[in-house]
Amino acid sequence: MRTINQVYINGEFVTPYGTEVQELINPSTREIIGRVTLGNEEDAKRAISAAKKAFKTFSRTSVEERIQMLQRLHDAVMRKLEVMMEANINEYGAPKPAAIGRVKLAATNFLDTKEALEAFDFVKYIGKAKVVAEPIGVIGIITPWNATYSQITAKLASAIAAGCPVVIKPSELSAIQAHLITECFHEADIPAGVINVVHGLGQTVGSELTRNPDIAMITFTGSTRTGKEIRRGAVDSMKRVTLELGGKSPNIILDDADFSVAIPTAVRQGYNNNGQACVAGTRLLVPKHRLKEVKQIAKETVERIKVGNPWEEGTELGPIITEKQYNQVQRYIQSGIDEGAELVIGGVGHPEGLEQGYFVRPTIFAQVTEYMTIAKEEIFGPVLSILTYETEEEAIEMANNTDYGLGAYVSSSDIEKANEVAAQIAAGVVLINGAGFEMKAPFGGFKQSGIGREYGLYGLEDCLETKTITGYDSAK
Ligand code: NAD
Repeated sequence: MRTINQVYINGEFVTPYGTEVQELINPSTREIIGRVTLGNEEDAKRAISAAKKAFKTFSRTSVEERIQMLQRLHDAVMRKLEVMMEANINEYGAPKPAAIGRVKLAATNFLDTKEALEAFDFVKYIGKAKVVAEPIGVIGIITPWNATYSQITAKLASAIAAGCPVVIKPSELSAIQAHLITECFHEADIPAGVINVVHGLGQTVGSELTRNPDIAMITFTGSTRTGKEIRRGAVDSMKRVTLELGGKSPNIILDDADFSVAIPTAVRQGYNNNGQACVAGTRLLVPKHRLKEVKQIAKETVERIKVGNPWEEGTELGPIITEKQYNQVQRYIQSGIDEGAELVIGGVGHPEGLEQGYFVRPTIFAQVTEYMTIAKEEIFGPVLSILTYETEEEAIEMANNTDYGLGAYVSSSDIEKANEVAAQIAAGVVLINGAGFEMKAPFGGFKQSGIGREYGLYGLEDCLETKTITGYDSAK
């Protein structure tokens, strides 16, 4: 049982003004594993004022100092790998290999950003002007629960590289993980006030960060609905807003793809992070005349996937984060059935023997039309919809027929054709033939999947303001 009754402000763990206590539940067992005392608006204000004060000196630190800080942050996270992995499994339900991957990714984000910083030119000369990139100011970081460690560090690394102090409001549902990573920040010996972490709700701490004029920029990852609220809330202070939002990513399997590889890969891309991934490829688009074969391979793939205790060897899918989310996924599965889709495998209810946790039956629907709820809305669970197309043009049109534009996947044995298709998809990230993400490259969404880009060079640039100076040299 973990009690988190402190927030991290000005380099110290302090008691929050907020008194509301929230229980933290292990989604695999429904046991209470911790309690977090939530901070409130006053805690957010305290943190903002510490960050504002720190900006004066931190914004003037040398690139070399910030490179060292990024290295120390990486090392501090790696030192805590074991305990952070445990928390990810117990608080979130990630299978062990995924949990280890998440912690390592969180650490690597610091090194990738360090590499970008080492190569970055803060001063450029254009005509008779000197163009200087300066830290934007204090940055508010608001993150969800589905990849707590890596989302926090991706945003933090960019801010540190740019010379910006931060106030972080992690998801209230992953407070143990957020607390552990805050301990890493403390151990990395970063100047007081540069990193502040306030646990709390979106309506209180999140809203204060969004509206407070001393915050120059908000970088948010979460649902599109909350992203819109944040953008509205940030208007009066005209702060910069970077939004990484939801998705309904298409996965186009072209007729010439090797289906025995492409379909199992597509199922796993759809079930990425138990379906609780913004980039989950949840709309599988396949040639109409191959549907029977696709259903067969997809069904066999799902039959081989082990759902259950995330600590057990071989488990691929853990539980859904909360009862509320579990019920939501159940409603989506029921809506697929009610709206006439064909249930290939899975369905409502728990998998047999897994009634104690928020486990969902991995589900595949076929005969899904573009107008069904399950084809349009982000489900955030292991539910894959198979849609069919007759021509490649139609496949591309269907892929783009969504309000979202985050991830997209293409499979083909003809790499040129796959590239041509990729070029026509309105999405921020396209993965061809099962390729993985390049975390040094920009990540973000088109359309309602977001604004701005994160990671590496693009993440760093996002935290900078541009100043043009002329007359800086009397000879020019
Ligand atoms: P959410 O929008 O409910 O919450 C995200 C964060 O925002 C939490 O910390 C929450 O407390 C805070 N928040 C809520 N209301 C707020 C408000 N009014 N003002 C300020 N902050 C507020 O999202 P979630 O359920 O935690 O996460 C799931 C969503 O995140 C999914 O839609 C998923 O697609 C998205 N996501 C996107 C990416 C990406 O990079 N694009 C990555 C992961 C998750």
